[in-house]
Parts: sequence; C-alpha cells; structure tokens
Amino acid sequence: MPGMPIATECCIGTAGSRRIKRRACHSCLSIRRPRGRYEWRVRYTTVLFCRDIMGLMQRPCLTVLAGLMPLVYPAFAQQPQLAQPGTKLSVDQLKAQIRVTAGRRLRPQSWPNGARVAVALSFDVDNMSAPLARGDLSPGVLSRGEYGAVDGLPRVLRLLDKHQIPASFFIPAVSDVLHPQMIRDILTSKRHEVGVHGWIHENLPSLNNEAEEQRLLLQAIAHLTKAVGKRPVGYRAPSWAFSPYTMGQVAKAGFLYDSSLMSSDDAYEVMLDGKSTGVIELPIEWILDDSPVLNLPGGVLPSPELVNQTFQSEFDMAYDEGGLFILTMHPHVTGHRSRIAGLEKLILHMRSRPGVWFATHEQVARYVKEKGGRSDAARVK
Ligand SMILES: [Zn+2]
Repeated sequence: MPGMPIATECCIGTAGSRRIKRRACHSCLSIRRPRGRYEWRVRYTTVLFCRDIMGLMQRPCLTVLAGLMPLVYPAFAQQPQLAQPGTKLSVDQLKAQIRVTAGRRLRPQSWPNGARVAVALSFDVDNMSAPLARGDLSPGVLSRGEYGAVDGLPRVLRLLDKHQIPASFFIPAVSDVLHPQMIRDILTSKRHEVGVHGWIHENLPSLNNEAEEQRLLLQAIAHLTKAVGKRPVGYRAPSWAFSPYTMGQVAKAGFLYDSSLMSSDDAYEVMLDGKSTGVIELPIEWILDDSPVLNLPGGVLPSPELVNQTFQSEFDMAYDEGGLFILTMHPHVTGHRSRIAGLEKLILHMRSRPGVWFATHEQVARYVKEKGGRSDAARVK
C-alpha cells in the first residue's frame, strides 16, 4: 500500500520499518518504488531455488508455495525497463569486461583415506554487522542479528561437537568486536577454521572505492589475526559480492582460497584478466545457502525440511560424482531450533554413507592444491 512502511529482511539483516526507496541485498529481495507505487522484485536466484524446492514438495506444500508464486511473477512482469549496455558492445568488448573467470579445475582423483566425497560446512557469522553497516539501528533488526551470537552459534557448535564435525566460520570483524566470546568458543574444539568476511559486512560493489575497500580488508585481516592467533587463509566476500577491485586485493593479500564464486561444483583456480591469481576457489551456490528461503521474517517456505531436501539431493549427487559439497549457513538463521534439527538430519544422512570426508575449507583447499592440480585435469574453461 503506498505510504505504508515496508520492512524487508534478507541474509544480511532487516532493512527496517521505514520507507525504503531502494534496497537490495545479496540473497533474495529488493523493493523498488517506481512512479509512486511499491513493487516487489524477487531475485531470479530465489525463483530458481523455489522451482527446485517445488520439485521435491508434496501436494499440500506445493499448494502453499504455489499460492506465493503469483506474488512473485507479476513483479517480474511489472519491472521497469532496465539499461542493457551489453547489447551495444562487440564480442571482444564483452570478453574484455569479464575479468574474473574459472581457470584450472582442481578435482582430485580421490579424497583423503579413499573417501568418496568431501563435505565442507561453513557458517557466515554476520549477526548484526550488515544492518550496522547500512545504518539500520532498529533494536528489532539488531536483535535478530544478535540472536546469532546469543543462541545461534552456541547451538551450532553443540551440534558440530556432538557429531565431531569440523566447519569454517567466516566472520565480519565487527561481529567479533561485539561478541568476542564467539571466536574463543569456535576455537575451543580445535577442529574449526575462522575466515575473513569483511570488516562490517560492507557491500563492496556499493562501496566502489578501491582505497576504502583496501583499508577495510586490511583492517579486518589484522583484527581477525589478533583474535584467532594466526592469519586467516580463507576469504568470503560479504554477500558474495565483489567490486572491480576485490579479486586483485584478495590475491595480493595472499589468501589461499576464496569462497564467494560459483563457476563450478569443483574447486578451481581463479583467473583475473586471463592470468591465474594463485587463489583457489571453493565454490558456493544460492541453492546451497540457508538465506534465500529461511531468512525472511517467518521464512517463505512451509517447512525448513524442504530446504534440507534440496541440500540432501545436492549431497547425494556430489557423493555419486566423487565431488565436493559446500554448504553456506548463518548462525542467526540456521541456529534456530527447527533449522538445527533439520541440519542434524542432514548430517545423519551424510554420516550414513561410507567414505564421507568432513573438512574445513582450509583443509579442502590445501588438499586440492596438492592433489587436484594434475596436468591431465580438465579445465573448467
Ligand atoms: Zn554474510
């Protein structure tokens, strides 16, 4: 309704109970206000995810979700015309614009101890960092992020301890500043890894400032190095969103791996302007992220189990292919009771198959760097 406050929420937090002219996030949702009307625009990735989910759903659930889809598709039909500068460029000009690409595929013939599949679970400890970055100080919004530190992360760690499973935690430095006990708790078992996830979950394309991005990256590295006791070797861009400067700065900082890109199911070398950066990509995917469908207020699906069915199908195929299964979650999202119950079911399913190697991202990156780079390995591109 025009004039009514609109709130939206995504994996990086809630935009607030105030009027929003334009708000976009990395997960799923944006709100635009063209010509005096409010309009929902759901990102295409979410629709793809919903389509995958629908294929798994039983009839009653399908009916519920089908009822939501008209809210989605009319929004597509009503989108204002977008600029399409690519239509004016030559093929060579287009190629020159694609700067970050997939290089050599890093797929080992087998995983350690003859395992069939490598499983790397990751948790992005965003908590309240993203709303703080954009100046959204609503106590309700911040409290929803704070849940990640208060109850979400402890519950995640208890589950991982119960099953003796390692994981990687990508932490915006400000999340640690606000709740320093988290890293101490993560490091207690000595199984887990801490990686860099920005200073304050800054949106790098919006920042679009090379010097400022460099300052925030170095500040984040310095802070986490001190907090962890060693320099992190893994990087994940806030919102998985790169600016034109990010890949160069990540390579220059000497990271072993990045985990923000999606060119393959396998690990691969990241190329920048046609040259290898030396950085290993451990690829992620929206359909392997808890945020798109579980981080809206109340969620958009009837049951988190539907999400786990997709995760399980992805794992089953990775197992059959002898591949790599990487899952991205957030303590303030998956740390809730019903989601942890779903994650435990997934863990039990994976545990029921022989030959599953649970590892941190760092362990996977070091292994594929040593074993996955054979000269006969197929190139991703
Ligand atoms: Zn994040």
